[in-house]
Amino acid sequence: MSTSTETTVRDEVVGWLRANLPPEWVEGIENNDQAKLAEGRKKVEFNDWCARLGEAGYATPSWPKEYGGAGLDPEGVRVVMSELGRYKVPRSFNVIGIGMGGPTVMQWGSEDMKRTLLPPMAQHREIWCQLFSEPSAGSDVATLATRAVRDGDEWVVNGQKVWTTLAHMAKWGMLVARTDPDAPKHKGLTYFIVDMHAPGVEVRPLKQITGDAEFNEVFFTDVRIPDSMRCGDVGGGWAVATETLMNERVALSGEGSVGGGNVGGGAIDDLIRRAKASGQWDEPVLRDKLAQLAIEGRINKITNLRAAAARGGGKRPGPEGSITKLFQAEYNKRLQVVAMEMLGASATAWSAGDDAATGSSVRGFLRSRANTIEGGTSEIMRNILGERVLGLPKEPATDRDIPWVDIPRGV
Ligand SMILES: Cc1cc2nc3c(=O)[nH]c(=O)nc-3n(C[C@H](O)[C@H](O)[C@H](O)COP(=O)(O)OP(=O)(O)OC[C@H]3O[C@@H](n4cnc5c(N)ncnc54)[C@H](O)[C@@H]3O)c2cc1C
Repeated sequence: MSTSTETTVRDEVVGWLRANLPPEWVEGIENNDQAKLAEGRKKVEFNDWCARLGEAGYATPSWPKEYGGAGLDPEGVRVVMSELGRYKVPRSFNVIGIGMGGPTVMQWGSEDMKRTLLPPMAQHREIWCQLFSEPSAGSDVATLATRAVRDGDEWVVNGQKVWTTLAHMAKWGMLVARTDPDAPKHKGLTYFIVDMHAPGVEVRPLKQITGDAEFNEVFFTDVRIPDSMRCGDVGGGWAVATETLMNERVALSGEGSVGGGNVGGGAIDDLIRRAKASGQWDEPVLRDKLAQLAIEGRINKITNLRAAAARGGGKRPGPEGSITKLFQAEYNKRLQVVAMEMLGASATAWSAGDDAATGSSVRGFLRSRANTIEGGTSEIMRNILGERVLGLPKEPATDRDIPWVDIPRGV
């Protein structure tokens, strides 16, 4: 991108932010006035803000304009992200949609799906969830048992999913179901977009150690999905699911830190700030730990930038996304342990719902336990890296080529 084009994109996004954020917010950022910024924050309604950011194309700047994006090249996207970070604007939590569903629909969906599903996703008007894991199919998700049976122009779905993040808020779900039980496990799957408000979909919340209920069990009883909501071929669902999973690893890789102010970028800076304010910065052992974390955070950020540049060159996310997914998950756990050490005894006197600084640190520590499980466990990431990046021999598998119905289950 030429300097003049970069300046134009920057002028446009900053102009848009100045026109759309409350004046106190803009003043707070531009004059580094925290009180003004806090005043401005009170005037923003989250859903309305996310919708307007999406309508402007800035929630998904790389997407084509006709699908709800700004149609920008990677350099333009970088400029937009850095300005959104600088103005500390709230962003949609619809990451399963924007980060995973969007790229999947873009690659595998029909033109009609792209035009109708992508803009409301980008505008935070329709939240998405991912319906892959089942009680007996997690790491080896290709063994899943939820059935979809064709009935004319529709499919009838029965089965159960679990750990479905945001299912309680979602309008759409990315569903992988078994359409041919006689085919080997990877070959009998088909990928659908299911309306989470359709008759027969039941969502039950699961409560976590943090006190939150961010994920759910989802039950399907005779749920009907039109064939027009199928992504990819009948029996070709594994390739589509792989697209979603590759993008999930990118989404969970600390990629957000590229834009600044996120885990991997913001969290360590925050710890250092706190250590300086409390005087703990003078303890050499703690300072060493913080320095090590700052170095590792920087390494992850640079690795993510390299991966983003490769994707910008037209490359789709590949198994290398597992490098930063693995690193970020293990890194965040180490970082949260140091945050607990800094809090000392006060870390123990916390209850769910407490949103003071201590509360958010303790919550961060408890939530980080899930990082090495969600989106594929660290063991599975190491397997992928060994087999598909380093080219080591594959794990022995006895169930790959036999019909799915003949695979022993529930043992
Ligand atoms: C916070 C959170 C959010 C989630 N959100 C979603 C969601 O929105 N949608 C969704 O579909 N799923 C979601 N999941 C589920 C997640 O993808 C699975 O939990 C994960 O893939 C592991 O599956 P499992 O829990 O069945 O564990 P299992 O597969 O039973 O694994 C148990 C243990 O065995 C190890 N293991 C298994 N196979 C191997 C192997 N071949 N080699 C070495 N070790 C192995 C694992 O690493 C793990 O330690 C979420 C999970 C969490 C924690």
